Amino acid sequence: MYNPKSLKAEEFIDHQEILDTLKYADENKDNLELVDSLLEKAKQLKGLTHREASVLLACEDEERTKRMFDLAEQIKKDFYGNRIVMFAPLYLSNYCVNGCVYCPYHLKNKHICRKKLTQDEIRREVTALQDMGHKRLAIEAGEDPVNNPIEYILESIKTIYSIKHKNGAIRRVNVNIAATTVENYRKLKEAGIGTYILFQETYHKESYEKLHPTGPKHNYAYHTEAMDRAMEGGIDDVGLGVLFGLELYRYEFAGLLMHAEHLEAVHGVGPHTISVPRIKKADDIDPTVFDNGISDEIFAKLCALIRICVPYTGMIISTRENPTVRDKVIRLGVSQISGASRTSVGGYADGGEEENSEQFDVSDNRTLDEVVNWLMTKGYIPSFCTACYRAGRTGDRFMALCKNRQIHNCCQPNALLTLKEYLIDYASPETKEIGEKLIKNELNNIPNEKVKAKCTELLDLIEQGDRDFKF
Ligand code: SAM
Repeated sequence: MYNPKSLKAEEFIDHQEILDTLKYADENKDNLELVDSLLEKAKQLKGLTHREASVLLACEDEERTKRMFDLAEQIKKDFYGNRIVMFAPLYLSNYCVNGCVYCPYHLKNKHICRKKLTQDEIRREVTALQDMGHKRLAIEAGEDPVNNPIEYILESIKTIYSIKHKNGAIRRVNVNIAATTVENYRKLKEAGIGTYILFQETYHKESYEKLHPTGPKHNYAYHTEAMDRAMEGGIDDVGLGVLFGLELYRYEFAGLLMHAEHLEAVHGVGPHTISVPRIKKADDIDPTVFDNGISDEIFAKLCALIRICVPYTGMIISTRENPTVRDKVIRLGVSQISGASRTSVGGYADGGEEENSEQFDVSDNRTLDEVVNWLMTKGYIPSFCTACYRAGRTGDRFMALCKNRQIHNCCQPNALLTLKEYLIDYASPETKEIGEKLIKNELNNIPNEKVKAKCTELLDLIEQGDRDFKF
């Protein structure tokens, strides 16, 4: 029986409730009066339920669909402004004991090159990432209790935070590793991680079990209940995601929102981020064998609806998407993107020239400078900010910042300060010129005059060589 407050996966992601939701959505997709009232409700920024959201997803009326896109754009502007937070993934190890049929790391893949970074190699990778200008990483690893035990992950996090190369520093490490125990989540929290990210892959239990035929990840309940254990272990910023292409997108969308509702109902705080990966070609993986691939149009609609339905949750888009798609969806509510990513183990220090250890083919191959330049010419502020989590503004405290509309007095100056650091330390002359003009203009978008004056003062100090200020 469906119960968002239950701690049992099959009760908070109840299959019958999803089927009923899809039926309700089909029956109401042409009920334009209802669709209009839902759009009105969404404008109040209180979000929509999975049932309401599913009606909007099913609705094919062109004018209403356009209004969904416009509203997503408006919410993005009101809440997140034009800031886009930058990050890079760091692949630590592709040893894996699971059998995930869509992932090249699966145990039976004998031709992928297996690699696990030593602490020295991590130092080289992180130095290369710092030299690009990155301040925020998402570490990734396959699941392998012998090769990648929690002690290895913890040691790696310690190493990453310890590296100070020139003016570089990694100030926030997010973690994307397999579902684990409360005790291990507690250790990750103590190691100072930012967000714990775990993609559900699919919410459809039967498909999930087929797609994960062997290994610990086969256990649907253990995987689906991971965020509850993470929260029990003290991690209050968690990142959800679905791997689009594995199952019917309408099913996944309802499941994703039910998961968000569950976290809110049980822990009083929804997901910090939602990622929207689509399945990609990779070694031993042909994405066309999965029949549920979605068009760019549907992908954009999903992004727009996530923005409308969970307005306080950040949205992440990776380099699985090409520059054209990224361009299209960023304005619909994306708040974080990766730049200059390498999905191979050891791919940064060796320039990506080494043997095949990649997780998937990257579709955006631009350098970080090119991505930063592109964002700015499109009117966005690339932000390297990591202030919230370092100031203890995680979980409900971050949500409060959003809800009280204080985000512009906090995130805007932090974005400008960290962009300034980037421009001085890492940008090409052309990017620097564009960025300096942007900072000047964007200072005017800090609502509070005192904050604006303080920010101007700190920008001068950064010019003189100081670093790492935050509001
Ligand atoms: N091993 C960890 C786990 O089990 O969750 C997490 C890390 S894995 C490196 C990160 C994510 O990459 C997976 O959760 C999956 O959604 C995604 N992924 C795997 N194969 C992919 C493919 N062929 N194309 C796109 N994304 C893929």
